Amino acid sequence: MADHPSRIELISSTIEDLSDLFRNISQPAYRSRQVFGWIHCRGIADPHKMTDLPKDLRRNLVDLGLSWPAQVGEVLRSEDGTRKLEMILPDGCAVETVLIPEGDKLTQCVSSQVGCSVGCTFCRSGHAGLKRNLTAGEIAAQVHLARVAHLPGERLRNIVFMGVGEPLHNVRAVGRACELLCHPQGLDLSTRRVTISTVGIVRGIDRLAQMTTGHVALAVSLHAADEATRRRLVPGARDTIADIVQALVRYPLPKRRRFTIEYVLVKGVNDSERAARQLVHLLRPIRCKVNLLPMNPHDKTDLLPPSEDQVLAFQKILVEKGVSAFLRRRRGGDINAACGQLLSVDSKGGR
Ligand code: SF4
Repeated sequence: MADHPSRIELISSTIEDLSDLFRNISQPAYRSRQVFGWIHCRGIADPHKMTDLPKDLRRNLVDLGLSWPAQVGEVLRSEDGTRKLEMILPDGCAVETVLIPEGDKLTQCVSSQVGCSVGCTFCRSGHAGLKRNLTAGEIAAQVHLARVAHLPGERLRNIVFMGVGEPLHNVRAVGRACELLCHPQGLDLSTRRVTISTVGIVRGIDRLAQMTTGHVALAVSLHAADEATRRRLVPGARDTIADIVQALVRYPLPKRRRFTIEYVLVKGVNDSERAARQLVHLLRPIRCKVNLLPMNPHDKTDLLPPSEDQVLAFQKILVEKGVSAFLRRRRGGDINAACGQLLSVDSKGGR
């Protein structure tokens, strides 16, 4: 799949890339740090507003097309404080990103692709298949442009790649976006506060382990401990559960860190006591905690969440067997911003 777009996208550029570019237009190297800081620290991509740059460089940057590769469309606010923003991309595609407040701290859920090829049966995002990958700049722009929906005093604390798309199917751009967002001259976010959530793409996990962004947190959406159930819930997953577990076992997980295993509970599919015991057995070799998420119903599926009693019974089995298991609170359900409810739009307006 070809990435989009083909023109130089300055937002995706590192300080080193900018230095190379500026050398070619006879600008000193330190200008690259200034420009990077304007974009990735102050969140400003309009060269006219970069007031400490000389006028000729500002004009160069305009000519080179420096601007955000996205603009904010509809903004919805949930009664629980969650906000969902539509990000409209230059080719007419759109994705969604979500701000989830916890006191004065914000977690932002970002998208990595327009659509998704994995097609998890409980998820709205993958319903229409994959349209294209996002660029690193389009991913970073979601974070910077969403500042318009921050409330006074709120601070971005966590970024989770749990929006539309499978991040490890776009690992190069996702890795670059993490690099940009965590850069000390950018937002300077701790890599510990960035989580990449994957259905378990073994090649992607291995690649992530080798990247400088390898110390970001990794969440793996298993949703089942047996192959048949997993194939039903995650039809686009190519790697077996056993291969995913092996990839996690060899992953260079820093000391005192754990993987997160995401498990969306679906009524009558993966919520039995037997399924819980299988999960306990499967997770023995891995340092992890489990997040249990009762599925969020939506208009593209007949699947339903289990009863609260069933969810608690499932959790109890895990905890009694020594697995840290937490129930994730549903956020933003009234604006379709909860897990599995996000949508993307292709360039023809299809959802
Ligand atoms: S849950 Fe994630 S991987 Fe599965 S279809 Fe939705 S976006 Fe894709």
